[in-house]
Amino acid sequence: MVCQALLHESSKCVPCSHKFCKACILRFKDCPLCGADIEGIEPDDELQALVDRFIDGHARIKRSHVAGTEEVTGDKNKVIYEDVSMERGAFLVRQAMRAFRAHNIESAKSRLSMCAEDIREELKSSQDNQELCSQLGAVLGMLGDCCRTLGDATSAITYYEESAEFLSKLPQNDLELVHTLSVSLNKIGDLRYYDGDLHSARSYYARSLDVRRTAVIEHSAVASQVIDVATSLAKVADVDRNLGNESVAVEGFEEAIKCLEKLKLGSEEASLEQRRLSVLDFLRKQLDDK
Ligand SMILES: [Zn+2]
Ligand SMILES: [Zn+2]
Repeated sequence: MVCQALLHESSKCVPCSHKFCKACILRFKDCPLCGADIEGIEPDDELQALVDRFIDGHARIKRSHVAGTEEVTGDKNKVIYEDVSMERGAFLVRQAMRAFRAHNIESAKSRLSMCAEDIREELKSSQDNQELCSQLGAVLGMLGDCCRTLGDATSAITYYEESAEFLSKLPQNDLELVHTLSVSLNKIGDLRYYDGDLHSARSYYARSLDVRRTAVIEHSAVASQVIDVATSLAKVADVDRNLGNESVAVEGFEEAIKCLEKLKLGSEEASLEQRRLSVLDFLRKQLDDK
């Protein structure tokens, strides 16, 4: 599959001359457009320069200002592309997600890095802008995902930590924010866990649990939040068990089971019910094993 996002490292198939991102076309033996055998792939610098100019001029939040010229259009934060008009940052993020889904991770990373850079620049003049902080936190989390997929755990952790730092500054009354923050913390925990640093993993899982517990106090009726708390309890308990703190671990698993047993879901919430049952099943097995 090719990414259908803005071209990244534009490349031309020889001999048919159809153009794709380098990472996208490298996976094919025949051209996905015309079916011709690909005998070689050549960089198309001219086309890439055009794409880059488009991005700089239209897709980035901040236009490169020429000294003395001020933007006069009231619409400078919007980009119009095909039939869609949206915030410039959001446009780049959407391009990045498209590339990410098609496994063109370098392309996604490059778009997200620009976006992060632009938001940081905007933040300089409005430091307390919560909307920008929340956007930056989300973009940094996605950059972490890119690095993790590329096998660069160290950079991934750096991005996730920074993401968590920005998101922690915000009032935790928005569930989407709670989700992004707690997931970023869990991802750091996972990477520490795989690295064998259980104490560090536990501290991140515990922070994620805290964020979710706090959120569930205000949103006790939101079933997905309750399931998230139970999942976090299980993560912490699992590390506790591996650290040899069996009684603490058992308490954690039991608390998680109680949360989920109390949770009653309506018939219209079938997929959540499935999640509830599968987590519950996992938790009960943890206690049966002993
Ligand atoms: Zn592509
Ligand atoms: Zn072709």
